Amino acid sequence: MAKYAAPGMCNPADESPTVLGEPTDEVIGGDQRSYGQRQHDALTALLRGALGDPKFGQHHGLPVTVIVSATLQDLQNQTGHAVTAAGTVIPIPELIRLSAHAYHYLALFDGVNGRALWLGRTKRIASADQRIILHSKDRGCTRPGCDAPGYHSEVHHAARDWKHGGATDIDDLTLACGPDNQLVETGGWTTRKRPDGATEWIPPPDLPMLRGGTNDFHHPERLLGGASPPDDGGGEAA
Ligand SMILES: [Zn+2]
Repeated sequence: MAKYAAPGMCNPADESPTVLGEPTDEVIGGDQRSYGQRQHDALTALLRGALGDPKFGQHHGLPVTVIVSATLQDLQNQTGHAVTAAGTVIPIPELIRLSAHAYHYLALFDGVNGRALWLGRTKRIASADQRIILHSKDRGCTRPGCDAPGYHSEVHHAARDWKHGGATDIDDLTLACGPDNQLVETGGWTTRKRPDGATEWIPPPDLPMLRGGTNDFHHPERLLGGASPPDDGGGEAA
């Protein structure tokens, strides 16, 4: 704080805030902020500098970063809420403000059946495309009743025959948390994709009393009469 919260440092009011090196006397003289505000701005600048740092490495195949889903309609109207891959709800104006500093990806989904249509990006990250799509599409673990968010989920091959040579197609991939991936690997559960793109979980044949089906936990709009994506016909952007 002695360095980064000093007068003239990290001041968002400056056209090019001083983050590296020493601020000029002119910049120091123009700094109207309180000490508390300077500490706040210093913390923001330090965290922003760390986000996207390659030294963070990867988390489940993606660079450590923030993944947010919102509808195109809400973005255009600058109202409503977006959802992060941790399940955090953030207001659209806040999302727009944050994204000024972000690497942008845009994923478009069919508004009728939720299928992924297109993914654009401002920075190429090898083999990350499908994972990003899944964060927007599934949002979290797909096993019925599981509340694990996207950041805690792994990519899982929904089609049973994948190990026998099936293609790795985005329509065959889905998200599942570690313990639920094990249910499929060793627990006798199977999964399959329904025509609408949702992943259906089927309990072991000898345990039919267990609950199968799809997971609406990460998709409250499905329970609210389709007022939100993917049922509004407006597509979805991430
Ligand atoms: Zn799970």
